[in-house]
Amino acid sequence: MKIAVIGGGAAGLTAAGSAKGAKPIIFEHTDKIGKKIYITGKGRCNFTNVCDSQTFLQNVVTNAPFLRSALSCFTPDDAVALLNANGCKTKVERGRRAFPRSDKASDVTKALHRYAESNGAEIRLYHDIKEIVPNNGGFTVKYIGGEESFDRVIMCTGGMSYPVTGSDGSAFALIKKLGHTVVSPSPSLVELYTQEDLSAAEGLTLKNVTLRADGIKPVFGDMMITDNGISGPIALTLSAYAARRACPYRVHMDLKPAMTVGELDDRLLRDFGLVLNKQVKNALDALLPKAFIPFVLKTWGVQSSRQVNSVTKNERRSLAELIKSFALTIVGNAGFDHAVVTSGGVDVKQVNPKTMESRLVRGLYFAGEVLDVDALTGGYNFHIALATGYAAGTFAAKEQGQNI
Ligand SMILES: Cc1cc2nc3c(=O)[nH]c(=O)nc-3n(C[C@H](O)[C@H](O)[C@H](O)COP(=O)(O)OP(=O)(O)OC[C@H]3O[C@@H](n4cnc5c(N)ncnc54)[C@H](O)[C@@H]3O)c2cc1C
Repeated sequence: MKIAVIGGGAAGLTAAGSAKGAKPIIFEHTDKIGKKIYITGKGRCNFTNVCDSQTFLQNVVTNAPFLRSALSCFTPDDAVALLNANGCKTKVERGRRAFPRSDKASDVTKALHRYAESNGAEIRLYHDIKEIVPNNGGFTVKYIGGEESFDRVIMCTGGMSYPVTGSDGSAFALIKKLGHTVVSPSPSLVELYTQEDLSAAEGLTLKNVTLRADGIKPVFGDMMITDNGISGPIALTLSAYAARRACPYRVHMDLKPAMTVGELDDRLLRDFGLVLNKQVKNALDALLPKAFIPFVLKTWGVQSSRQVNSVTKNERRSLAELIKSFALTIVGNAGFDHAVVTSGGVDVKQVNPKTMESRLVRGLYFAGEVLDVDALTGGYNFHIALATGYAAGTFAAKEQGQNI
């Protein structure tokens, strides 16, 4: 059985390694395999999350049910075992995040490379696949300067994030030509740009705050103010849930989620009582980070030079309401060049969730970020590439008729 694996990332290497008994050839259009792996997890590669399947699925943002079968056949423990068996020792850190013990993403690449090679995979670099033509139950795979025939093709061409790594989305055109629907790709896990200019507080981390947007579960944790807007854990999470939302849209930040508006009003009353003769701009230091106070005061609308003892009950209440629901308008994001992952891709309704085989073209398979699946940070996205790669490789190598 001749199998073409298009794309030499985590999904492609895993698919090639698990296509047992076949002769996989990996076609990769850049100069190296696993280019994205090197920058994954800030160069440390958080390759999986050793949680139970329910927790894993809760961290999948798009099309979690589609992944159920692949994740049960290739669990986080299987990912750890695969790397260990191929010479990469591993460790688990806070939040059950698994890393190579060396803290070097290159060790993950080496292990996946070894796994693919142990199955006799051949790697062809600088091969940009331009067209895939189904014929007589097989495929002609065309690249610049040549073409070759295969029994099966596994598309592991990734999404569109960090295109410098080779995941430039160019393969979506040939996937569409094969009759597949591609759900419009959008950047996810990405810095969000705000209409409000927050740059004076650039670098500030707001700890233990909540972000809310209509139709999205509130997210609680830390957030960072950037030159152009907001980033950090909860802003990235929000960017994933809102990846397909048209801009502009409003989000509301609760700077004191542990208190109700009434409790916060009481707290303000107590705090103000201690500084009655000060200006309001000097009365909030105990409650809010210094760098963020000017934004709150500007939106509150009470002159920052006014004396605290002149603040009315209604004004104080409106300040409490503002701190509990500080509005920001999201007008865009940092784009694919800076997005950790792509939301969108091959419509999973057209793919068999057990085998990863196309429901439209027999013998064509998909794995990894090319699919319309994406998850939050924590090792989930990389694991999805491994698990779907494993399923696609395993089933593509089976004889016709076994894979449905
Ligand atoms: C900065 C950053 C940090 C990340 N950190 C984490 C993390 O810590 N944990 C985590 O779980 N996930 C992380 N991710 C996401 C994770 O790395 C990816 O989801 C995963 O690597 C995707 O693997 P893949 O094999 O599906 O796709 P890719 O790695 O994108 O591989 C696709 C390959 O296909 C090749 N290709 C594309 N088109 C063609 C063509 N026409 N012909 C030939 N070859 C082609 C590309 O060159 C590329 O090598 C991170 C991503 C980024 C960008």
